[in-house]
Amino acid sequence: MSDYGISSYPDVDVINAKLHDLVQAPMFPLRRDALEEVLNWFDTKCATSKSMTDEAKAIIPGGVEHNLAFNYPFPLAIAKADGAYMWDIDGNQYIDFLQAGGPTMLGSNYPFVREKVIELLQECGPVTGLFHEYELKLAKEIQRHMPNIEMIRFLGSGTEADMAALRVARTYINKPKAKIVKMGGAYHGWSDQLVYGLHVPGTGTLEAHGIPKGCTDLTQEFPPDDIEGRKGLRALLAKNEEKGGTAAVLIEPLGPESGTRPLHQDFNQQVRELCDQYGCLLIFDEVVTGFRIGMGGAQGYFNIKPDLTVFGKVIAGGYPMAGGIGGRADLISLCAAGVEGTKKRAYVGGTLSANPLSCLAGYYTLQEMERTDACVKAGQAGDRLAKGLNDVVEKRSLPYVIYNTGSICHVETSGVMLLDIMDPNAIPQVDPRKHLMEEMGAAYEMEGIITIGGSRVYNSLADTDEIIDDAIERFDRVFAKAESL
Ligand code: PMP
Repeated sequence: MSDYGISSYPDVDVINAKLHDLVQAPMFPLRRDALEEVLNWFDTKCATSKSMTDEAKAIIPGGVEHNLAFNYPFPLAIAKADGAYMWDIDGNQYIDFLQAGGPTMLGSNYPFVREKVIELLQECGPVTGLFHEYELKLAKEIQRHMPNIEMIRFLGSGTEADMAALRVARTYINKPKAKIVKMGGAYHGWSDQLVYGLHVPGTGTLEAHGIPKGCTDLTQEFPPDDIEGRKGLRALLAKNEEKGGTAAVLIEPLGPESGTRPLHQDFNQQVRELCDQYGCLLIFDEVVTGFRIGMGGAQGYFNIKPDLTVFGKVIAGGYPMAGGIGGRADLISLCAAGVEGTKKRAYVGGTLSANPLSCLAGYYTLQEMERTDACVKAGQAGDRLAKGLNDVVEKRSLPYVIYNTGSICHVETSGVMLLDIMDPNAIPQVDPRKHLMEEMGAAYEMEGIITIGGSRVYNSLADTDEIIDDAIERFDRVFAKAESL
C-alpha cells in the first residue's frame, strides 16, 4: 500500500460514535464577542473584497460563482495563488486548504505544468476541435496507473462524466425502467437525475427545484454504509428485481462527500458482489479519490474493479475540462465519438472536451505527481494535520470530530451533514448548525486559513510540515474562541 496516501484506514466505528455524540450534544459555537471580532476583521481588512463582491451581487447571484465558496459574511476576492498559499485582493495571505476543491494536487499554479501549458499555447492555442497527441498521452497515463481503465472518453466536468456514466449504463443494461442507485448524501454533480439525496441522506428530491419530477423517478438512494439494513443496498436491489431492475450502483468509494460519512473498509467489495449478483453495473465516482488517495485511485487501494469510473478534478491538473469516463472497453466504446453512421451509442460530447491544453496539463500533472510521490506526501500532511487538531480539541475539551483519509481531512464542528433527517428533533437544528459552520469558516479565514465549506481540508504536495504546524496553531487560536463547558 506504500503508493497510497492513506497510512491507516480510519476506525469507522469510533468516528461514527464521535459524530453521533457531536450531533446529540449542544453546539459549541464561537463566543459572541469573538464573532464580533471576526466580523470586524472582515470589514476592516477585506474592504476591497466586500465592495467588489457587493457590486458583483447585482450581476452574479450571491456575488460568487462557486458552491464551495462562503458568502458569509461576504465572499473573498482572490488575487493570487501559489503552492500552499492564496492572497486576497486586499493583500491578506491564507493557507490554501481548499486547493480549488481538489484538482491541484501539486499545489496551486505548479510552475513546471504552467510552463508546458504556455509552450503549447504558443504553438496551437487551447483548442482545435480535432485530435491532439496529448489526448492519447493522457489516456495512456491514466491507464498505466489504473489498469481497469481499458478505454476512456474525456468530458467537460465531473457532472458531465457522471451523466455520461448513467447513459452508458442504461444503454448497456437496456431495460427502460432500470433504476440508478446512489448513496444518500453523495454529490455526483448537478444533473437532473442526480440532484437526489444531496448532502444529507434521505432527502430525496428536497433540492430538486426546477427539475421535472419524472427525471428522478428512476433514481434511488440507500443509507451510507448500509448493506444489510431494512433500507440497505441488498434489500433495494432485491426489490428492484421485481420492478424493472437496476442499471447501476453509483458510489463515492470513500463515502458521500469524500467520506463525510465514512464507510467500513470492506463496503466496496460487498457492493461489487451485490452488483454481480443482481446483474447491474458498479460505477465508482473517483472525481475526488482518483489520483488523490493514490495514483491507482480508490479502486487500486481497495482492489476493486468497477465497471465504470468517473473522473474529474486532478485529471486536468487544475486546468479546465476536468471530466472523463473510463472502464470496460465494451461499455466505453458505446460512447464513441466522430461522425459515424447510425451505430447504437450513448450520445455524449462537448466542444471543449479533450482540448489540448487540459490534456497536456493533466498528463504532466500526473507525471509530476508520480515523480514527487505527491499522494503519499499530501497524505502525510493530512495525517499530521488531523493528529495536531485532535490534540488541540482534546486539550480544549471540545466535541469536534477530526479524522482524515490521507489528504482528505474532515473538521466537523457542527455535524450538520450528519443530522438524521428522519428525526423530527433534527430539522430545527439544520439552519443553526449550518450557520455555525459558516461562522467557523469565517473565523478560520481571519486566522489565515481557507477550508472547504468550513468543515473539510484538501492537502496537496505543497503542504510542508512547517505549513501544517503553522495551520494547527491557527486552528487552535480559533478553537480558543469557542464556547466551552
Ligand atoms: N462527483 C464528486 C464526487 C464530486 O466531488 C464532484 C465535485 N465536487 C463532482 C462529481 C462534480 O464535478 P464537477 O464540479 O467537475 O462538475
